[in-house]
Amino acid sequence: MSPLFDPSLITNHFAELGSAFYTRLDPQGLTAPRLLHANNALAQSIGLTSDAIQSVSFVQTMAGNQPLPNGKTLAAVYSGHQFGHWAGQLGDGRAHLLGAVQTDSGPLEIQLKGAGLTPYSRMGDGRAVLRSSIREYLASQAMTGLGIPTTQALAIVVSDDPVYRETVETAAVVARTAPSFIRFGSFEHWANHPKQLVQLLHYVVDHFYPKVGTPGLSSDAQLVQGVLREVVRRSAQLVAHWQTVGFCHGVMNTDNMSILGLTIDYGPYAFIDGFKIDYICNRTDQGGRYAWFRQPSIVHWNLARLASCFLDICTEAELQEVLGHYENDYLLQYHSNLQQKFGFDQWRSGDEVLANDWWQLLHDHQADLTLSFRSLSTVFEHPDAWLALFEHSAAAQAWLQRYVQRSQQNQQTLSARLQQMNQHNPLYVLRNHLAQIAIDAAQKGDVEPLDRLFKVLAQPYEWQEGYDDLALPPTADQLLPALSCSS
Ligand code: AMP
Ligand code: MG
Repeated sequence: MSPLFDPSLITNHFAELGSAFYTRLDPQGLTAPRLLHANNALAQSIGLTSDAIQSVSFVQTMAGNQPLPNGKTLAAVYSGHQFGHWAGQLGDGRAHLLGAVQTDSGPLEIQLKGAGLTPYSRMGDGRAVLRSSIREYLASQAMTGLGIPTTQALAIVVSDDPVYRETVETAAVVARTAPSFIRFGSFEHWANHPKQLVQLLHYVVDHFYPKVGTPGLSSDAQLVQGVLREVVRRSAQLVAHWQTVGFCHGVMNTDNMSILGLTIDYGPYAFIDGFKIDYICNRTDQGGRYAWFRQPSIVHWNLARLASCFLDICTEAELQEVLGHYENDYLLQYHSNLQQKFGFDQWRSGDEVLANDWWQLLHDHQADLTLSFRSLSTVFEHPDAWLALFEHSAAAQAWLQRYVQRSQQNQQTLSARLQQMNQHNPLYVLRNHLAQIAIDAAQKGDVEPLDRLFKVLAQPYEWQEGYDDLALPPTADQLLPALSCSS
């Protein structure tokens, strides 16, 4: 088999941290793997041609049966807080970092999810089933299309290898990419080990936050505050995007929080259809810790767990000062998103009340979040279509009147305004029932629905001919119950 990449393009900087941070190992891989789907655009950005994607080398590499040339395959260790409680050591229980490919914007790491056991598998089997792999693959594409920071997915490889969950299913591997998969929990793991903690800090500064200072020249306290400031900003912006697009992550544990502010680890997530402020997408989350309306405060809580790792380097007051920026960072992005979605030329005093009443209106009618936003751009010509989403209620009429009045303060032309709105209110989101249709078909060997959905999600803001069914909310018999963590 010819190697997939020129070895000179492959690095693994994470491996330079030393063996305390990971275990080197070969994945168990898959028996007789087949390529289910590949992300051509992403493949191209790492120098893989369409021929390369169809090669035996590609499928074997993405299945975990063949290492990257010059790659140093490893599983990383981390710890974390799960559902508000310290969970101790976790780690890559079913993920293998193969190495990083050089791209125009720096090294991009390739990680396999589901390629077998690692020393961190604990009670798990190191595997991922087809349905959860498709969900991760599609969600990565949906987020990328929406312009929301995320890990990306390069390919799904499948096999007939059995995987035992509630029933017997089959194994799949998702190959995903990110500049780094370091989590808040990667730091929490070393909270009481100053040497490794500082080593990881310096690594993150050097590779991902070079502007915050230079290890050796800047003090470690300065580096901590600089990195934390960036992570606070990115995480606040990320969750503001989630809120305004109606995304619920479902498992916002500190080990699922990226140090780069990416959406990571797609499990029982949901893009909300009929909106509820207290919407919970994870059946296992009975208390609703990760309900839609709690997500921003959970990110703040998670950031505080990250900050507390550095109490031997910074004073509590210094860390609190940085954490104190969170609310403003969040509101800045949240207001900016809503301003664009409502089609306003700026955020004015009074808009907060209008926005709060908007969410309440959606909640009271369990109106479809995506369509309610999207059809706001037609409300001037066709108020009836929009009002129908709210059963023509008096509350909806009253809100609309205030909205129309507020809109008259805009300086933009109507066409500029409508364009702005359509560029910020997606028509297509990854609704759970659409993912399920793609999964059901793929389990029967038909990849076409997955492929269609994948294509449409690349441009969620553009109406695309022949895809109207993918813009519709679920019918009553397509509605799915909340998902569990089983994956
Ligand atoms: P999650 O809640 O999916 O982020 O997973 C929490 C921890 O459980 C992480 O350390 C995962 O690597 C690990 N894990 C989840 N599923 C499995 C599995 N099937 N086999 C091994 N480890 C797993
Ligand atoms: Mg995880």
